[in-house]
Amino acid sequence: MCGIVGYIGTRQAYSVLIKGLSRLEYRGYDSAGVALINKYKDLNIYKVKGKVVDLERESENKDISGCIGIGHTRWATHGEPNTVNAHPHCSQSGKLALVHNGIIENYVTLKAKLESKGYHFKSETDTEVLVQLIDYVMEKHHLELMPAVLVAMDKVEGAYAIAIIEKDRPEEIVVAKKSSPLVIGVGDNNEYFLASDATPIVEYTDKVVYLKDGEVASMSPKSGLKIENLDNVTISPEIKKVTMDIGQLEKQGFPHFMLKEIYDQPKRITDCMRGRVNPKTLDVVLSAVTDHKERLLNAKRIIIVACGTSWHAGLIGKRLLERFCKIPTEVAYASEFRYSHSPIDKDVLVIAISQSGETADTLAAVQMAREKGAFIYGICNAIGSSIARHTDTGSYIHVGPEIGVASTKAFTGQVTVLIMLALVLAKEKGTMSRESYEEIVKELLLIPERMQKMLEVDKQIKPLSKEFTFAHHFIYMGRGFGYPVALEGALKLKEISYIHAEGYPAAEMKHGPIALIDNEMPVVIIATRTCLYDKVVSNIQEIKARKGRIIAIVTEGDTVVKNIADVTIEIPTLPPCLEPLIATIPLQLLAYHVAVCKGLNVDQPRNLAKSVTVE
Ligand code: GLU
Repeated sequence: MCGIVGYIGTRQAYSVLIKGLSRLEYRGYDSAGVALINKYKDLNIYKVKGKVVDLERESENKDISGCIGIGHTRWATHGEPNTVNAHPHCSQSGKLALVHNGIIENYVTLKAKLESKGYHFKSETDTEVLVQLIDYVMEKHHLELMPAVLVAMDKVEGAYAIAIIEKDRPEEIVVAKKSSPLVIGVGDNNEYFLASDATPIVEYTDKVVYLKDGEVASMSPKSGLKIENLDNVTISPEIKKVTMDIGQLEKQGFPHFMLKEIYDQPKRITDCMRGRVNPKTLDVVLSAVTDHKERLLNAKRIIIVACGTSWHAGLIGKRLLERFCKIPTEVAYASEFRYSHSPIDKDVLVIAISQSGETADTLAAVQMAREKGAFIYGICNAIGSSIARHTDTGSYIHVGPEIGVASTKAFTGQVTVLIMLALVLAKEKGTMSRESYEEIVKELLLIPERMQKMLEVDKQIKPLSKEFTFAHHFIYMGRGFGYPVALEGALKLKEISYIHAEGYPAAEMKHGPIALIDNEMPVVIIATRTCLYDKVVSNIQEIKARKGRIIAIVTEGDTVVKNIADVTIEIPTLPPCLEPLIATIPLQLLAYHVAVCKGLNVDQPRNLAKSVTVE
């Protein structure tokens, strides 16, 4: 995880780095640091445990001059989050400073070798071996920085995106990448930017180069951008254009990104459907399906691979694909799937879901399935991300950058794409009647409007959440499409409010969880009017009989559950397959308000980072 940034040009590097780091803070916020070289060739390094604001405080009244610098916001993997372990790390000679995103798997061996050559280490990180190793290679082989990085990185196993500066040569930044993302921004006035994603770069330039695995680049206002790979082949930079609405990177008056992103959903789901769902003909078109029809329609089995919230979207996808398209579908945690012995061949379609498109386990699962001949369909948000580039085809969810660590609009965007995908495949396969297809499409088109209306429930949830601030546990339950919604609601609550919460299929209650019910256990239950309604009502009775406190999500006009539950929240009448898009909203708001009442940092919950780019 963690975010790296860098700048070289004519501006003051410090402010570019600080702004960039705050954009990347969603990736980690255990510590932050910058390294700058001033005009006297002093290498100034400032780092702190904590957030970017703490770093700004730390660097007040210090020398922050210089037009070259690198920065880091950390999500610790090796070594506790403290100032010594914070990046940038410096070589023993004091010549080099380096920032790193990733994990060096053979760092123990490398460290031992370097120690035997007289190198002393200050931190507990895996990262420090990189800067010492590069320093060693430079000394031993009398190499300049870029050739030394090429030699050094060939000896390194693991994942990395690194940026290095050299005290005595403030004319270049060298970067290298393998399995962690790295974007280079090419400015107009011989200036270069680098970052873990494009968000710190977009306000300066729309020209970017996505560095590929095994590539090393030198960025220099004097000699330009040079890229070589570890086989010493020169690569000509492939410049791409990125466009991003900068407003989406700001809170725009909301107290937190999470709340803004919850409120953003009606608009973003409209964006997600734009050009794909035709309101006149009621046809859904996904170019990915049009372009790869044969391969997709021949799939005999589908495996959805994902992690976290995306995995919950996957569970909804399974229900949709099996119901609409009659294709057996499994949902696997990417981290388990990648090491599994699941038989995969060319008849398998793997759908990889990841908001960031950088989730390390999902990417590895994609690579594994691809090698075995499966066809890979990606569902990502971040344009040009690693997963998007490593799949055979796919659909972006187009919900705009998601900054809050707890995913909200990306979840509803993923579900929307899965609904569209299931509809398109069902139509092509002839597994759904035109009538049912049109009924769903009509309702799908109304979803943004219904989401907007649903957001009014905020008024009801805000006071309600106060009652639950001191709860230690929560249970969430649902059946069918309501089960993944329950899981997602529980995940939201635990992520940001640190209240232990579990999601269960409601009927499983009797097989264990019911033992937990007492008058202190709040139970959130999705009890909408589906074919399983009566059974869920019985579950509610069982909870009530044991004095559990029930918050039920019901269909408008419900009277039965209203009489039993402590609180009911109404959602409109919808086809069950579309309910997750609406029923999730009150659960997002509940988690949000409980966390706010507890005074917690909603956008940056402890121990978490947004995109999990390490195993
Ligand atoms: N492994 C490095 C550390 O623990 C980098 C962490 C990261 O990329 O999140 O400092």
